[in-house]
Amino acid sequence: MPSHNQHETDVLIVGAGPAGSSAAHYLAQQGVQVTLVDKAVFPRDKICGDGLTPAAVNELALMGINTDGWMRNLGLQVVGGGHDIKFPWPEQRSLPGFGMARSRMELDEELVRHAVKSGAELIEGVTVNELITDHDGRVIGAKGQKGRGQDAETYEYRARLVVDAGGVAARLATSAGRTALEKRPMAVAARTYFTSPLGDTDWMISHLELWDGKPGESNLLPGYGWIFPLGNGRVNVGLGSVSSTKAATKLPYKQIFQAWTQNLPEEWGFTPENQDGPLRSAALPMCFNRKPQYHAGLAITGDAAGLVSPFNGEGIAPALAAGRYLAQAYASARSRQTIHGFDLAMEAYPQALKQQLGGYYTLGRIFVRLIEKPQIMRACTKYGLPRKHLMKLVHKLLSDGYERQGGDLNDRIIQTLAKVVPSA
Ligand SMILES: Cc1cc2nc3c(=O)[nH]c(=O)nc-3n(C[C@H](O)[C@H](O)[C@H](O)COP(=O)(O)OP(=O)(O)OC[C@H]3O[C@@H](n4cnc5c(N)ncnc54)[C@H](O)[C@@H]3O)c2cc1C
Repeated sequence: MPSHNQHETDVLIVGAGPAGSSAAHYLAQQGVQVTLVDKAVFPRDKICGDGLTPAAVNELALMGINTDGWMRNLGLQVVGGGHDIKFPWPEQRSLPGFGMARSRMELDEELVRHAVKSGAELIEGVTVNELITDHDGRVIGAKGQKGRGQDAETYEYRARLVVDAGGVAARLATSAGRTALEKRPMAVAARTYFTSPLGDTDWMISHLELWDGKPGESNLLPGYGWIFPLGNGRVNVGLGSVSSTKAATKLPYKQIFQAWTQNLPEEWGFTPENQDGPLRSAALPMCFNRKPQYHAGLAITGDAAGLVSPFNGEGIAPALAAGRYLAQAYASARSRQTIHGFDLAMEAYPQALKQQLGGYYTLGRIFVRLIEKPQIMRACTKYGLPRKHLMKLVHKLLSDGYERQGGDLNDRIIQTLAKVVPSA
């Protein structure tokens, strides 16, 4: 006989990736009863570039994660338009002067264990597939299942707040009608691992052009590539492309990847013998592609809310930061006596996302519309990269590495630009 389990909790978080674990950690720290449910059993893999910009490193520090011994990097090495230029991460008031790379197998395991240490209850191996609503359509819980057939166990959770942190599939958000917005950018990217002498080097390499032979003398392939050193002689190598609408570009990633990597320097060792695991791809939802981020008992966060940056495909830092904003909003909401008061207080969550990332992501939508045209991308790469002062600004812009207040001239230019455009 299938067994049935019932739980009551303050906050039910579905998905224990960076977004879910961060929210669970911050909520549990406030003494909130949090139940974090994931269909996977940790440690589990996630298709990702494993890159952590200073913004992500800073979020980890705020959470109190001990990153001693993690692979650090000094900045971005950008290759394209006949240039090969290093851009160090600047040391800033609000951000450290280094980035990191950590395999998601390890990173997500550490984040979820951290949330548990902070007091969250973790339930693994349960797929949550259905919201429970009251007669007004308000979300009051969710139903899940572990296993199938005779051995299936069903779960029913009742909670004051349900959070969809279930990644790009956004199952609960979709079932509540929060479907992906048509005109928000969507990227697709693929990655694998290699053993390589680059594994212990200091720079995250970014190839703005992919060639199937000698650069400038062979065929230009669509997409952009990266090589991120992970330490212990391993690198994460991948490529992706972005489209300004939800209809993501459909490229033959495997073929492009092969043509690109076969022609990279032989000593880097990107051969089938050195490859560790298959090339796997996934989508990156960007620029708040699902809304609202809170309504009637259901909050959405991380990839489920399309929080990935359109500038660089970074989704970990915004997912971690969103957990912080969500918990802050709930801290006020939980003391409210009425549903109306609760909902009003929870509005602080979308408001914080808008304030921190709204204008910035609107700029990102313009950026994507430009770079999806290869001729514009090529001209920017060729003429922009060697301009030192311009690139300092671009580097801050692309990595979300600008100060939100004060800072230098570049910070203030980006702040002004992000303010003059309407929020995404
Ligand atoms: C190829 C590629 C490269 C990338 N490179 C980078 C990078 O270098 N740096 C960076 O910052 N970002 C990168 N990203 C983006 C980044 O991976 C995501 O933005 C990030 O993982 C979002 O975190 P999340 O917690 O929202 O979702 P996820 O990390 O996807 O976690 C979602 C969790 O929810 C669980 N889940 C899903 N559905 C259910 C369900 N119905 N019931 C229960 N559990 C469920 C899943 O098992 C999973 O554990 C990359 C993405 C791709 C595809």
